[in-house]
Amino acid sequence: MSYIYDFWDDFISLLFPRLCYACGDHLMRNEHLICTECFVVIPRTNYHLIPENPVAQLFWGRCMIEKAAAFSYYNKDSRIRKLIHNMKYKGIKEIGYELGRIYGLSLKASGFINGIDIVIPVPLHPAKKRVRGFNQSEVISMGIADAAGLSVDIKSLVRKMVSATQTKRSRYERWTNVEGIFQVAETQAVSGKHILLVDDVITTGSTIESCTAELLKYEGVRVSVVALAFAVV
Ligand SMILES: [Zn+2]
Repeated sequence: MSYIYDFWDDFISLLFPRLCYACGDHLMRNEHLICTECFVVIPRTNYHLIPENPVAQLFWGRCMIEKAAAFSYYNKDSRIRKLIHNMKYKGIKEIGYELGRIYGLSLKASGFINGIDIVIPVPLHPAKKRVRGFNQSEVISMGIADAAGLSVDIKSLVRKMVSATQTKRSRYERWTNVEGIFQVAETQAVSGKHILLVDDVITTGSTIESCTAELLKYEGVRVSVVALAFAVV
């Protein structure tokens, strides 16, 4: 019987080839979304093992963050960039979940997430979420939380709707005006909690800084940060 199944499987993959979302090569029967080679060669930062790592240093003097780390590096032509691109612009949410789950296992094994109470994804602008159909940071958070035995809170931190006056501002003015983009919607849910804030890519750190500034307004809140990739500039 298994021979027939295998034959059928091969026939289907001839018609609809399953390709690795990082390198485009054909996936083997036992591979899912990412081929084994990509899984092995995607560089890990291992920042979760190094307290004073470059992501943590990015926030020094800007906002009080307990711990910060990123899974990989975001470079031009990097496989992680390709994966994130396929997730965000081709709508393959499973990629975010799977990478989050893989990272979550390392975060758990190393003790990085010890003491974390709740996982909160960086909220996506509602208009963007409508177009994309999902928030990429949310699916990454789900993967991390499932692997680490935590839960995800998508209600407590929200992105404010952009007002008409804000949209008239120049791009530079909006960029410098990161303070006040986010809002805690449920004070009780965050007070006294150690929050793991999750983003897809950390570049300048301004989004994380803005989220953290809002969260730290509430009593007893502590914030740690992880992302799938760190853009080295
Ligand atoms: Zn591959």
